[in-house]
Amino acid sequence: MSVAFFSGAESFKQQWPLISDKLDQILDEGKFTNGPAVQELERTLEVFTGAKHCVAVGNATDALIIMLRAAGIGAGDEVIVPCYSFFASASSIAHVGATPVFCDINPSTYMIDVEQIEERITSRTKAIMPVHLFTHMADMNAINRIAHKHNLLVLEDSAEAISMFHEGQHAGLIGNAGVISFFPTKTLGAIGDAGLILTNDDSIALEARRLRIHGQDEGTPYIHHSVGYNSRMDDIQAAVLLTRLQFLQREIARRAYLAASYNSMLADIPQVSTPIVESRGDEAANAVYYVYLIETEKRDELVGYLNSQGIGTEVYYPHPLHLQPCFSHLNYQEGDMPAAERAAQRAVGLPLYPDLTEEQVSKVCGQIRHFFEKEV
Ligand SMILES: *Cc1c(COP(=O)(O)O)cnc(C)c1O
Repeated sequence: MSVAFFSGAESFKQQWPLISDKLDQILDEGKFTNGPAVQELERTLEVFTGAKHCVAVGNATDALIIMLRAAGIGAGDEVIVPCYSFFASASSIAHVGATPVFCDINPSTYMIDVEQIEERITSRTKAIMPVHLFTHMADMNAINRIAHKHNLLVLEDSAEAISMFHEGQHAGLIGNAGVISFFPTKTLGAIGDAGLILTNDDSIALEARRLRIHGQDEGTPYIHHSVGYNSRMDDIQAAVLLTRLQFLQREIARRAYLAASYNSMLADIPQVSTPIVESRGDEAANAVYYVYLIETEKRDELVGYLNSQGIGTEVYYPHPLHLQPCFSHLNYQEGDMPAAERAAQRAVGLPLYPDLTEEQVSKVCGQIRHFFEKEV
């Protein structure tokens, strides 16, 4: 029995009759980008998240770039961002001409270390970009407090954070704006690329709607208020997402159930730790398990062994952003961000998705146990 790192085949097969009805409608209507299904998705997600505005775009990398530009971030500005994230958190900042100023993570939550934000603020700092990674949100109370004190924007990389709520507010709406990714492996996945900007700010929403179609207003084509992008969502993706949204809460509950199985099966393997699970205690009930992450000393050897047994893994993230070749001009050195650098060598995500069976979880844990027993 092999265990893929990700597979959505079974749920798709079950949901396909509903999706295909919706696709027939789209084919009949003949509007394939930014059409009725995309608009329906925007309105539906406004209700789901409580956002005043949802703006659908091609993917969440574009959503980050468009969000930053719509919020007025540009050349000469600095944005404080954790160095432990998916590349797009930092590349989006560079794309709009601003400079990412990297911050280390708190080693037990994997989120930006809020204690280190203030010392990085300069006269050029315009925004903080917290990233909500894997299961929970960053410490938004502390981040908003710092932002308020220094008059900074808070632009959330909430790409992984659909259905994560903080004191009743959906991720992306706690600061000034946020994004969601519908990349196929994400908690709510399309069958291709798709992304979203969400905000309660009218002017960010207006500018984001312009930027996604070459800086023009929807009613008046060929007049370009800004130099924008071509980043439309496909109606096919919107149809898939509208259908899958009906199953989202059930799938999130399934993810939590499987994560709890991992917790109990891994609990007595001393070489494996789950810092994120352990650090969140009371908040565990609010977790949305996009990724199940473990830490271990012999990470690379374990990954090699699991892969040889047909078990998929994904190393999140093997190279912290401050050490990426494309940012070498920013002059960060190895050792600058010890918590992130340590995590980059020790962390690995195990298979976790609604289609996964308990037998598969048990096989993964059995093989992890076997690996460490072999070791001693
Ligand atoms: C997935 C992800 C993105 C990018 O999303 P795409 O839709 O693939 O462009 C950005 N930031 C984080 C933290 C992500 O996990």
